[in-house]
Amino acid sequence: MSGQGLMVVETGSPATTQTSCVGDDRARTAAQIAVLFKELNERIMALSFNVPGEMLGFVCECTSLECRVHLRLTAEEYRSTHANPRYSVISCDHVIQDSEVVVATTDRYTLTERIGGAGDVTACLTADLWRRLGTRND
Ligand SMILES: [Zn+2]
Repeated sequence: MSGQGLMVVETGSPATTQTSCVGDDRARTAAQIAVLFKELNERIMALSFNVPGEMLGFVCECTSLECRVHLRLTAEEYRSTHANPRYSVISCDHVIQDSEVVVATTDRYTLTERIGGAGDVTACLTADLWRRLGTRND
């Protein structure tokens, strides 16, 4: 029976329709940390007053549990990360070259896309997070 089980968020990226949340241990641990920070940021978004142009304080979504870097983005900027479950906003000097590529960079943050196995697990866990929180994929 088709259509059984969890729905996959439509992103236009074919890899997200057949990903698993398993991955190898290293990729999975890194993705779990990144998605933990994503959850925190989603909650910051939910608590914001949605004033256009207002700078909000977000946390860096890199894969280091020790990272305590805060980033300043508008809600609109953070919402742009919803275009792809592989995207993360991170501090400019926290990019890991072998597991992510830079999509956009500003003087306040860098938007990256996780690639390969790390990207697959990140996409899967992020889609789960968005389903759980009811995050709109726009
Ligand atoms: Zn970081």
